[in-house]
Amino acid sequence: MTTATPDIASIVRQVISELHAPQARVPQTTRDNYSNSQSLSGANGIFSSVDDAVAASQEAFEQLETLGIEGRKKAIAHIRRIAIEDAEELGRMEFSETGIGRLEHKIEKLKVLGEKVPGVEFMGSEVFSGDTGLAVIEHAPFGPIAAITPVTHSLPTIACNAVNMIASGNTVVVNPHPSGRTIAVEGVRRFNRAIHRDLGVDNLITIIAEPTLESADLLFNHRGIKLICVTGGPAVAKAALQSPKRAIVAGPGNPPVVVDDTADLDNAAQSIIQGASYDNNLLCIGEKQVFVVERVFEQLMAAMERAGALKLNAHQVDSLTQRAIIMTGEGSHRHWVPSKDLLGQDASVLAHAAGASGHDGLELIFGETDIENPFVPTEQMMPFLPFVRCKDADEAIHHAHESEHGFRHTAVIHSNNVRTMTSMGRLLDTTLFIKNGPSVAGLGLGGEGYLSFSIATPTGEGVTTPLTFTRQRRCTLVDDLRILGSARHT
Ligand code: NAD
Repeated sequence: MTTATPDIASIVRQVISELHAPQARVPQTTRDNYSNSQSLSGANGIFSSVDDAVAASQEAFEQLETLGIEGRKKAIAHIRRIAIEDAEELGRMEFSETGIGRLEHKIEKLKVLGEKVPGVEFMGSEVFSGDTGLAVIEHAPFGPIAAITPVTHSLPTIACNAVNMIASGNTVVVNPHPSGRTIAVEGVRRFNRAIHRDLGVDNLITIIAEPTLESADLLFNHRGIKLICVTGGPAVAKAALQSPKRAIVAGPGNPPVVVDDTADLDNAAQSIIQGASYDNNLLCIGEKQVFVVERVFEQLMAAMERAGALKLNAHQVDSLTQRAIIMTGEGSHRHWVPSKDLLGQDASVLAHAAGASGHDGLELIFGETDIENPFVPTEQMMPFLPFVRCKDADEAIHHAHESEHGFRHTAVIHSNNVRTMTSMGRLLDTTLFIKNGPSVAGLGLGGEGYLSFSIATPTGEGVTTPLTFTRQRRCTLVDDLRILGSARHT
């Protein structure tokens, strides 16, 4: 198998330096022309009709084919460059539109995706060479792919999907979350505009400017759409799995953490705070509930406070629980959900809701709960963590398993006991399993590996790469081109 060495940084540097060369300078955009997206319907990827968006995407796909790998490389380098150079401005826009998460992390997510999401360097081919000749397996694009994206990382998910999908020769039609559509449209406009100016191809990324559940459904059933990629919660995951087309589903999680009595407790506390407070715990991989072996429970609580988290007392935990987690649905569909007014809010806001006083800059609040507390089974997406006391590591792993609901998404353990790690890894069977670090290490941020904001869980593709969005094609030549062996047999 041949796989080129990833060298994203040098590609980005090259494109940035080309764009900064005087002869290639792109005219500055006026900062106030992005509010009139409706009047530009169809230009730079923005469409009001699903049919028009898909038709434009097909046309762009055919044009992209003629540009070869070099064209793909240049197109995605523009996406990376804009994600990095405009991170501050775009991050602010996303933060002000969605009203959830933390500004510094909105900005950081754009920068890291620009640097770390895999592109064309991941496109390899496999070769089988033997007595009967040669077979080459190549990875071909599907065509226009429908991407449904979440509010928790609106533009980062679109940019990340676009880099992966264009790197493998596809185009993408986006149905963004309605609450993050303005930033999604603005990002898509900037990406297409830069690509169009450089390569003469518009609409590699198209977007439905007024997305609805109906427009998502039209895409799921559109004959021009060859593949679906959804990133979101249980409802959209279920809808995609029921669609007649092949779907890559990056579904919900509820990542548990186990801390046993062999763990480095200061490292565990710092890691839990880092992962769970990131963007106010909006990440699907973020730590959501913690199961601690009794013998070190009080020590871990103290380590959490030393590391800067605010501990709530039992009364404050109860008050917060009543405000933050609410019951929804009817009959057998009744279940807990996070309340919209606290989802993604700052730890100091949650502290206030609990009747405690949190200071500005507070990253995480936490408190002891029992296993029945609704924070334990609910993907709360807020910087409060319930800590549950367990008699031993087996019980902690058992509770972790129950609380993950079989999503097989992400789990975290802090332990120095290899047997305990192994048994948790086996039982939870998750796509990401992080040991002795923050959850974000599982996406290459402080751990090894590459990044994507779409982690395909129920459909099994894992952290998506360009290869996720390809069809295998095999090209076989009988008897010839294997250049090894005896010359007498040619
Ligand atoms: P959400 O499910 O509310 O929305 C996600 C997208 O799906 C939006 O575009 C929404 O409009 C659309 N949608 C919702 N129901 C639909 C339906 N029935 N048919 C068609 N489209 C539908 O999720 P969110 O609040 O935006 O994001 C948070 C959720 O996404 C969490 O559950 C989180 O775990 C998950 N998530 C998963 C990953 C991953 O990589 N696995 C990444 C980010 C977020």
